Amino acid sequence: MALIVQKYGGTSMGTPERIRNVARRVARWKSQGHQMVVVVSAMSGETNRLLSLAKEVSPAPAPRELDVMVSTGEQVTIALLAMALQDIGVSARSYTGSQVRILTDNIHTKARILDIQDTNIRRDLDAGTVVIVAGFQGVDEQGNITTLGRGGSDTSGVALAAALLADECQIYTDVDGVYTTDPRIVPEARKLERITFEEMLEMASLGSKVLQIRSVEFAGKYKVKLRVLSSFEEEGKETSGTLITFEEDRKMEQPIISGIAFNRDEAKLTVLGVPDRPGIAYQILGPIAEASIDVDMIIQNVGHDGTTDFSFTVARSEMERARKILEDQVKPHVGARQIVADNKTCKVSAVGVGMRSHPGVASQMFRTLAEEGINIQMISTSEIKISVVVDEKYLELAVRVLHKAFDLDQAPAQV
Ligand code: ASP
Ligand code: MG
Repeated sequence: MALIVQKYGGTSMGTPERIRNVARRVARWKSQGHQMVVVVSAMSGETNRLLSLAKEVSPAPAPRELDVMVSTGEQVTIALLAMALQDIGVSARSYTGSQVRILTDNIHTKARILDIQDTNIRRDLDAGTVVIVAGFQGVDEQGNITTLGRGGSDTSGVALAAALLADECQIYTDVDGVYTTDPRIVPEARKLERITFEEMLEMASLGSKVLQIRSVEFAGKYKVKLRVLSSFEEEGKETSGTLITFEEDRKMEQPIISGIAFNRDEAKLTVLGVPDRPGIAYQILGPIAEASIDVDMIIQNVGHDGTTDFSFTVARSEMERARKILEDQVKPHVGARQIVADNKTCKVSAVGVGMRSHPGVASQMFRTLAEEGINIQMISTSEIKISVVVDEKYLELAVRVLHKAFDLDQAPAQV
C-alpha cells in the first residue's frame, strides 16, 4: 500500500464528463489498496473568467479580494469530484486550503506555503476515505484566503506530497509526459521516461511549460518523487509518463543531451559604443533592474579604441520599456553612441546533465548551426545547458537540426 498524491489540472477537470473520468481513475488506484490524496485545479478557463470579471468591476482590484474570488474556482471542483466519487461508491471528502490548513505567508496572489497540517487528512486516509484538496490556495495566520500564483496547483500537489511523505506525486495533465522537444516542431520528438530535476528546471524555464517551475524546485528540495502523466489515456492503455529523478539515482548510461528547449519570447537590446571602463555593466543594467525588468542573456564584446558594445535580452513585452530606459537614462549618462532593439530573436538551448562529463557538446552545436547557415548572435552556457540567440526565422530549423544532431529521435541505448 502506498500513499499517492495525484494532481489534476484544469483541462482534466474541464467538463462534468471529465470529472467523472477522474473519479473513475482515482477509484481504480484506491481499489488497488492505495491511500489517495487528490489535488485539483479549477475547470479550465475559470480562473481567467474570474479575473476578467474583477477587472470589469475595478481597474485595480485589491489583492486580498482577488484571492477571495479566484479561490472559488477550486472550491467548485473539489466538491464536484467528491460528489462524483461518492456516486460510484467511494468514500471521499473535500477540503479547501484553509480547512486542511495550508498555512502561507500573507503575500496575496503569490503566497508561499509555510506549513501544512496533516491531522484531518491522516484521519480520513486511515478511515479509507479519499481526500480531495483545493489546489492553488492557502490561508495566512490571520485566516485570510491566499493564492499561490498562476499554475499554483502544481505546487499545492508537490507540497502536500512533501508534507505527507507520499510515495509519489503524480501530476495529471493534457500531455503524456516531457518530450525531447516540442513535437509540433519535430514530429520525431520522443517522450522521456526520465529527466532529472535540474534538466526539468532548464526545460521548464525555457518554455516547456508542463509544470509550474516553483513546483519542480519544491520537489527537488524536498525529494518528492514526481511524475507527469496524461489524464486522457484510456483505461488499460495508460503509459507511465515521465518520472522526474535525482541525478544520483540514475543507473542507466546518461544520454549527453536530454532535450532541445526554446523560447520565442526573447528581445535583444544593444548599447553601441560605450566607453570600455569599470562600472559600465552596472550603469547599463542597474536602471533596468530598478524597473524590475528581468534580464536573461548578457554579452559584452572586447573593447577596441576605448569603446565596446553591450547586448542583453529581455522578454519581448518589456523591450520598449527597456529601450526607453536606455535612451533616456543610460545613453546620455554613460555616453553611448546608439541603442538598437530587435524583437525578432529567439533562444534555442541544448539541455543535458551528461554535458558535465562530455566536452565537445558546444562545438557540435555550433558546427550544426553553421552547416545550416544559421548565425549565432549570443551564447550563454551553464554546466548542463548551452543556449544561443538566433534570428526567429531560424528557430524551427535550428531546433530540428539540433534534435537530429544529438540523436534525440533515437531511443537511448540501454545498458
Ligand atoms: N486555477 C489556477 C490557475 O489557473 C491554478 C492552477 O490551475 O494551477 O492558474
Ligand atoms: Mg497547470
